[in-house]
Amino acid sequence: MLKRFISKFKKSPDASNHQADIIAHQDHAINPDRVSENAVKVLERLQRANYGAYLVGGGVRDILLGQSPKDFDIVTDATPEEVHGLFRNSRLIGRRFRLVHVVYGRDVIEVATMRGNHDNAKGKHQSKKSDSGMLLRDNVYGTIDEDAIRRDFTINALYYDISDRTVHSYAGGMQDLKKRRLRLIGDPATRYREDPVRMLRAIRFAAKLDFSIEAKTAAPIKELAPLLLDIPAARLFEEVLKLFMAGYAHKTFALLEKYNLFAQLFPHSQQCINENDHYRNLVNFALINSDKRVAQGKSLTPAFLYSVFLWPCLLETARTLRKQGVPDVPAMHQAATEVIGNQQAHTSIPKRFTIPMKEIWELQRRLERRQPRQLDSIIGHSRFRAAYDFVLLREQNGEKLDNAGLWWTDYQEQHPEALYQKPERPRYNRNRSRNRSDDGPHRISKGRSGSGSSDSGRDGPHRVSKPADDGPHRVSKRSRKPHRD
Ligand code: ATP
Ligand code: MG
Repeated sequence: MLKRFISKFKKSPDASNHQADIIAHQDHAINPDRVSENAVKVLERLQRANYGAYLVGGGVRDILLGQSPKDFDIVTDATPEEVHGLFRNSRLIGRRFRLVHVVYGRDVIEVATMRGNHDNAKGKHQSKKSDSGMLLRDNVYGTIDEDAIRRDFTINALYYDISDRTVHSYAGGMQDLKKRRLRLIGDPATRYREDPVRMLRAIRFAAKLDFSIEAKTAAPIKELAPLLLDIPAARLFEEVLKLFMAGYAHKTFALLEKYNLFAQLFPHSQQCINENDHYRNLVNFALINSDKRVAQGKSLTPAFLYSVFLWPCLLETARTLRKQGVPDVPAMHQAATEVIGNQQAHTSIPKRFTIPMKEIWELQRRLERRQPRQLDSIIGHSRFRAAYDFVLLREQNGEKLDNAGLWWTDYQEQHPEALYQKPERPRYNRNRSRNRSDDGPHRISKGRSGSGSSDSGRDGPHRVSKPADDGPHRVSKRSRKPHRD
């Protein structure tokens, strides 16, 4: 078995120190039935075509930990073009990090080609780094041994071979998994410089898996946190969704603050939170509530999350404007535009979320005032539920809103027919709309990434950032280093 494995892949001369511990099927806890049918199809087709193919990353890690994987990632020694040639239902994505998506309806299986050692690559295959050490391009292909050490954490360098059901554990991944320890492969500072998003990934996995972060892995984070300023805002938006929408938001927030990372993502919010604990409590209550919603299988919307994170900034900015003589209502409007504009420079927010955010904020005043003539239009508003939840949240945080929350709870019970109903989609449109993200009041699409952009969201192994997305709503206030490509 071992011989077959070794002959499958050519070893590079310097990979000899990075060989796998091979764990036979009776010695690990992966039940092949837990691997998705589509991932199995992809693995088997690649192997039948005589390519090496493994399940890797979260798919292996989470099954070993008894959790349900979010997605299944596959790695192969076939080039992206060869993979694309094998699957008619596939598309090549990414330029700086080429990958293949094999698409089965809403289910997308990501197939990456094993990444190799940069130093041996020549010409157009060379990887490219910025002055700060960030990888700008990484299409150097290699062997499984090389691929393993290019992955981020040891627990993500576990490869499952479906044909003989062995697990190939690199860099002590299996031991770390047993010790519930998150450890970066290689020198942590260098690896964070290559891709600063790894700092966010460390926090995400520590919170999600309830793992400790090994001291050497944790040590450079606080100091290197500002490197996140070099990451395109669109990619950071996707990371924020992964950090806060997966059911571990409360713990994640504490860790992000501890490691100086929240300040890189939401600098103005962090400043307001530092100045006033009332705001920190609001965020904490919101995140505890949203974790509960996820645990109950309820939906969440990024618009609600962002409206909470930016609420302190909104109030503070409006206060400043009022001091300058701007009347109440225009001050809130102007503040909303300014606050969202400033945040776009850090984590871009698609327009389909900024509009509901503004509506949630705007409805706060109307929900508090309860003007009789407006009641029907308020309760029939498409953001009523989210705005009402926001009122409850503010009351939970000790604000005295003259019992507005309770009042609206009663009003809804008495007028269930007046509540906003999502319009049915016309039948002829069914197929087209099925794959689109549905951003109803509390809804985040579970299929593909929240922004709908296949390139900005998915971080395949060693995926590096795409160029900053300076969309029409972008106010680029961050100082950025130019990307050279
Ligand atoms: P999850 O899917 O639950 O978020 P994951 O570990 O599978 O966790 P993915 O983003 O799906 O994360 O990436 C799949 C694998 O690719 C990872 O397990 C890791 O091996 C590798 N990888 C992803 N992003 C990076 C990165 N920025 N640097 C190095 N390796 C990475
Ligand atoms: Mg994954």
